[in-house]
Amino acid sequence: MTFTACGSATSMTNAEIIELHLWVQEHRTGGSFTIYGLPDDCDLARQHPGQHAGLIGVLDGRDGRAWLRWGDWRSTDWLPDCAEPGCELYFGHPGECNPDIRAGMP
Ligand SMILES: [Zn+2]
Ligand SMILES: [Zn+2]
Repeated sequence: MTFTACGSATSMTNAEIIELHLWVQEHRTGGSFTIYGLPDDCDLARQHPGQHAGLIGVLDGRDGRAWLRWGDWRSTDWLPDCAEPGCELYFGHPGECNPDIRAGMP
């Protein structure tokens, strides 16, 4: 099966970027933080139901990743990883699993 991404994109607002940095300062455990992809592309499968979602960051040495979700509402959250082996999306994501969301991503 060839995974085809949704392709929808959005931009993070300044408020969302500030919120993310504050979250990292509050919860960081000594690891470094890397933000990926601003503005953000949806990483879910084409024709998925529900909100779009794009990976925005990882905090080294910590489980889960930061995701921007947008659609009917917007949120910036730290979400646990999907339980399916090899899937790079967050736990409970809509649509198909995706093993390869960003080239060069850790
Ligand atoms: Zn999407
Ligand atoms: Zn999955």
